[in-house]
Amino acid sequence: KLTVTHTCLTCSTGASSGIGEACACQFAAAGANVIIAARRLDRLEAVQTKIQGNWPKVQVLAIELNVRNREDVERAIAGIPGELADIDILVNNAGLAMGVDPVSDIGDEAIDTVIDTNIKGLLYVSRAVVRIMKRRGSGHIIMMGSIAGMAGYANGSIYCATKSAVHSISESLRAETISIPIKVTEIKPGMVETEFSVVRYHGDKDKADNVYRGMEPMTADDVAESVVFAASRHPRCVVSEVVLLATGQA
Ligand code: NDP
Repeated sequence: KLTVTHTCLTCSTGASSGIGEACACQFAAAGANVIIAARRLDRLEAVQTKIQGNWPKVQVLAIELNVRNREDVERAIAGIPGELADIDILVNNAGLAMGVDPVSDIGDEAIDTVIDTNIKGLLYVSRAVVRIMKRRGSGHIIMMGSIAGMAGYANGSIYCATKSAVHSISESLRAETISIPIKVTEIKPGMVETEFSVVRYHGDKDKADNVYRGMEPMTADDVAESVVFAASRHPRCVVSEVVLLATGQA
C-alpha cells in the first residue's frame, strides 16, 4: 500500500521531460502534491496541465529553475509559497551528458556544463532542500545516479565521473542524516529512452536513435515506478540503492 498521500509534497528537478516528468506524474497519480522544476517553462506548463487534467485533486506548482545557478536555486526554493515550501520528497533528477569524446578531445563547454549540472546543481538543490527537511525532522532525497557511475567506459569520462559523484554524495548525505531521519535513495538506471540522447548529441536524432539499436530500452515510467516504490516504503525501511537495466543490456 502506498504511503505517498496528499499530505506528501514531492519536488522533482528536470521534470520538463523524461524521467523527471514521469516521476511527477506517478507521484501525482499516487496522490502527492508536486513541484516541478526545470529551465523550459513551456514544457513544465504542459506537464502541469497534464497533471491537473488527470489528477485534479493534487496541487502542482511549476518553477523555472536552472540548477547550475546557485542564486537561482536558493531563490526558487525560498520562494515556494505557503505549505508547498515544506518539501517531503526531493527527486534530484536534473542531469545531462554532452557528446562522447576521448579525454584528449573533450571540449571546455562539455566539462563545465556536465559537471556544473550533474554535480554542482545536484548539490545546490540538495543543500537547500535538506535544510527544510532538517528543520522538520524528516524527509527523503532520491538521487538520480546511473550505472555510468559504477564503472567508467571509453569516451564517457565526464558523465561517468559525475554519476560516481552522485553515488558519493548520496552515501555521505545518508551517513549525515541517518539520525534525523532523512532517507536517501540512489537510483541507477541503465538505458532509458528519453530526450537524454538527443541532448547528448546536440539534437542529432539519428545518432540518438542509434544508441538504442538492437535492444529495447527502458521507459521513463519504468524508472519512475522504482522511485515511487522507494518513496512509499514504511518509515522503518529505506531503499538505499536501485540498479535497473534494460533486459538486453550487458
Ligand atoms: P531528459 O533529457 O529527458 O531529462 C533531463 C532533464 O534535466 C530535463 O527535464 C531538463 O530540463 C533537466 N535539466 C538539464 N539541465 C538542467 C539545468 N541546468 N537546470 C534544470 N534542469 C535541467 O533525460 P532523462 O530523463 O533521461 O534524464 C534524467 C536523469 O536521468 C539525468 O540525471 C540522467 O543523467 C539520468 N539517467 C538517464 C539515463 C538514460 O538512459 N536516459 C540512464 C541513467 C541515468 P530543461 O532542459 O527544461 O532544463
